[in-house]
Amino acid sequence: MVASARPATGNPSLEFDANLVRKLIQLGPRYTSYPTADSFSDAFGYRDYLQTVVGLRTRGGMRPLSLYVHIPFCESVCHYCSCNKVVTRDRSKAATYLSYLKHEIEMQGNLFAGMNQIEKLHIGGGTPTYLNDAQMGELMAHLRRHFRFASDFDGEYAIEVDPRTVTVERVHALRKQGFNRISIGVQDFDPDVQQAVNRIQSEQDTLNIIRAAREACFRSVSIDLIYGLPKQNVITMAQTLNKVINASPDRIAVYNYVHRPNMFKPQRRIAEDDLPSLDARLNMFSLCIKRLTDAGYVYIGMDHFAKPSDDLAIAQRQGRLHRNFQGYSSHAEHHLVAFGVSGISAVAASYSENAKTLDEYYERIEQNELPIVTGVKLSMDDLLRRIIIQMLMCNFELSIDSIELAYPITFKTYFAAELEKLRELEDNGLVTVDEEWISVTPKGRLLIRNVCMVFDRYLNTACEAKTGGASAKIETQPLRYTKKI
Ligand code: SF4
Repeated sequence: MVASARPATGNPSLEFDANLVRKLIQLGPRYTSYPTADSFSDAFGYRDYLQTVVGLRTRGGMRPLSLYVHIPFCESVCHYCSCNKVVTRDRSKAATYLSYLKHEIEMQGNLFAGMNQIEKLHIGGGTPTYLNDAQMGELMAHLRRHFRFASDFDGEYAIEVDPRTVTVERVHALRKQGFNRISIGVQDFDPDVQQAVNRIQSEQDTLNIIRAAREACFRSVSIDLIYGLPKQNVITMAQTLNKVINASPDRIAVYNYVHRPNMFKPQRRIAEDDLPSLDARLNMFSLCIKRLTDAGYVYIGMDHFAKPSDDLAIAQRQGRLHRNFQGYSSHAEHHLVAFGVSGISAVAASYSENAKTLDEYYERIEQNELPIVTGVKLSMDDLLRRIIIQMLMCNFELSIDSIELAYPITFKTYFAAELEKLRELEDNGLVTVDEEWISVTPKGRLLIRNVCMVFDRYLNTACEAKTGGASAKIETQPLRYTKKI
């Protein structure tokens, strides 16, 4: 990561300007990677990944790894869902999946033998706790057999939990299996909202799970909420926020529900008349910001808030916050190795994505190959833009000097077109740009994607192509573009 020369000045303040948000809000990438996953191509596959890992071995100086494991199964479907999941009550499917997963872990473990120190693990889904206690124990033991985990104190081992699928005892068992961070899906406590999205989750059960996580000494408890769901309004949102704040989690994520029934089949079951208007959504988000900051949470970025004592807030104050496929992270840029259907790895200057269907995933593993079906090898231009987008997403500012020190470019010349576009955002009060710094203003922070999109060459090249504009300045990589998510 390019260092920032400006001393860290504390957590960024945030200003909610409803008119500005209404004027400029647009769908855009969340930039958990750059290039984003829709730019990956099947020209990159298993053999390219092997070459990348061999390159790492040759260069030496290996950093610790992060692992991600995807468990795709869910017992029932939430109508707002846009995840890659398999809805089934047939538990034997989890056992079959686990056996393939173990084979994949073994193959990756062999590839990284001798450079397999782990400091971060995230198990996500779907519903990771669809695996029963014994299966989760088997998975963790297998991971430990093939990778060397840092101690509980030094490592960050997280699992996503659906309170409908776990008991208090299970939470204690997860802690004993080595997890020290837990992320609990709440979305909304209101019974009408829960009914409208087919996710009936008793308030008492959820609060019991949060309490159990505290008793079991999880280092960090995160809660996920969503605003913009059917039947939601500021009153229901205020009630949910009160209950969540009383439960005192370390981190709270408040995601915006984006209704795209053409892309995500479960969303077709949502009655559009039940969806809140744009104004109601903005009011809800404004309320979230006010209530959470009044309660002492600091704004991390995008949709994330954390207590000042949480690792994310500390990392942000110290200018070492990072962004990866799991969102924000306090750990430095590790290579990320992903397992399971649709998992995306980020190793050296590459991204590689696993098969998205169980059949294809199983088929590849039966051939004794890693199930990589698409990916991308990053060009110098990609790496440069990735670091710029990372710095803007995490620090809300960019030192132009630090980029020129790390890359052989003159910023003003290389990014002349981007600086021109930034001027429009500057006129709208989102950023300030001078000779040394690009800084996102407090009111621009909620629209950080707009700022980052200026530097997204794939997005901008597609726009230029559509409007007959000039091609990009350096041709380092064939460009691919599909609609951004
Ligand atoms: S939202 Fe989560 S629990 Fe619900 S169907 Fe989607 S992946 Fe499963």
